[in-house]
Amino acid sequence: MIGNAWVDTDATLPVEAPARGEVVTHIARCTTEHVDDAVIMARRAFAGELGEWAQWSARQRSAWLFGFADAIEANHEHLSALECLDTGKPLTQARADIKACAHYFRFYGGGADKLHGETLPYEEGYTVMTLREPYGVCAQIIPWNYPAQIFGRCVAAALAAGNTIVLKPAEDACLSVLSLAKLAVSSGLPTGVLNVVPGLGHEAGAALAAHPGIDHLSFTGSPVTGTRVTQAAAEHHVPVTLELGGKSPQIVFADADLDAAFEAVVRGIVQNAGQTCSAGSRLLIQRDISQAFTDRLIERFSALQCASGEEDADCGPLINARQKSQLDKRLATAEADGIRVAAKGKLAKNASPAGHFIVPHLLTDIPDDHEVLREELFGPVLAVQIFDDEAQALRLANATDFGLCAGVWTRDGGRQLRLARGIRSGQVFVNNYGAGGGIELPFGGVGRSGFGREKGFEGLRSYTRIKTVAIRHG
Ligand code: NAD
Repeated sequence: MIGNAWVDTDATLPVEAPARGEVVTHIARCTTEHVDDAVIMARRAFAGELGEWAQWSARQRSAWLFGFADAIEANHEHLSALECLDTGKPLTQARADIKACAHYFRFYGGGADKLHGETLPYEEGYTVMTLREPYGVCAQIIPWNYPAQIFGRCVAAALAAGNTIVLKPAEDACLSVLSLAKLAVSSGLPTGVLNVVPGLGHEAGAALAAHPGIDHLSFTGSPVTGTRVTQAAAEHHVPVTLELGGKSPQIVFADADLDAAFEAVVRGIVQNAGQTCSAGSRLLIQRDISQAFTDRLIERFSALQCASGEEDADCGPLINARQKSQLDKRLATAEADGIRVAAKGKLAKNASPAGHFIVPHLLTDIPDDHEVLREELFGPVLAVQIFDDEAQALRLANATDFGLCAGVWTRDGGRQLRLARGIRSGQVFVNNYGAGGGIELPFGGVGRSGFGREKGFEGLRSYTRIKTVAIRHG
């Protein structure tokens, strides 16, 4: 969708329903030329050549964002069904994702007219102020695990700040994104403000990241691709926000509310079949309670069901055959290395054999340096480690190059604060995990998890830059 119009492409890409392994439709495969056209449109829209976007006041942008949130909610069932089909995620999760997408537009709609610079004390005879300005054309490259939510996170914030956008959805899941783009146009978004270029990563994605006409790049996906797009953007000195996943620990002490911790530990890895950047993929459990807690996990994991998204079971399939085969290999290596599969979930009887299912796995007896503790597996696999005391828990929690999220479960107030400060990550949750999605809460990583922040007001600021104006008036 370039300049509010659907553009035909010579080539297309098949869209597969991962629960059935069947092609359900085709989407456009954009080329470098399409990306060029999209960037030109976004540039012209930003310059005010295509419509009134550049003249819209913050209050007008805010009103549009609120209206668009209403439009998403009015189309909730349709968008949820698309997300469920395209990603394979359980329908309940797809519905929650669409609700979250609408919430992003409402949250940033509320922020658009509250974003401001400052006046600064300076020498006598000067008035100095900062202006908070949009970057211009924002390139956004998003993944397949939460297409609608991440669309909301990036698009709502960038538009609230007054930017225009060229967005490249993932080749594996972009139906909800295309539908949202269509809805944005029918909701009155001026021409060229949002352009969507579906296609392959190494083609449309690479062309967008390397484009000299972009002013900002936001990328969510793997660390390897994150490095590539950052290098490409550096050629033109384009600032980048990177969100690259994690290997997040949930640390459970013996004094915790163990029932609450238990449910959050299961949910933290089962949600979206573990294909979540903030998945709690490592459980660190204090020795005194490790046996009882693990036994309880064994019982629950053995009962977890995998089925197509429409069946709304605990877990859907993985997104594609490649992700499944990589994870199958990693699990086989883990078993060959002596790691114990303490429990496995079940595949529903009516699940398609062509679906990319991997049932939930609970892994125990893991050597400290094993890759299942270091690499993001992106599947429903929970790795259990035992610790004796707080110092060891902290050491194990930080024994990863990633640093996105952490959960700390303890009733000891001092320990809560020490760990919240000591853990190397962008978010720490104490006696909860994920704070129910936390659209209002800044989100992003350290180390291999990336840099920059999205979500919350911080996410809105990150789509602006500061200009300092110093006036000498005597
Ligand atoms: P990826 O990082 O390659 O893809 C993410 C996005 O980047 C997609 O839109 C893709 O088309 C695009 N892309 C790919 N190559 C590109 C390039 N050279 N230049 C510009 N854009 C490019 O991820 P993947 O291959 O789909 O998944 C691989 C692994 O990435 C997963 O196993 C998982 O560990 C991780 N991942 C993390 C997240 C997250 O939310 N942090 C999301 C998806 C995948």
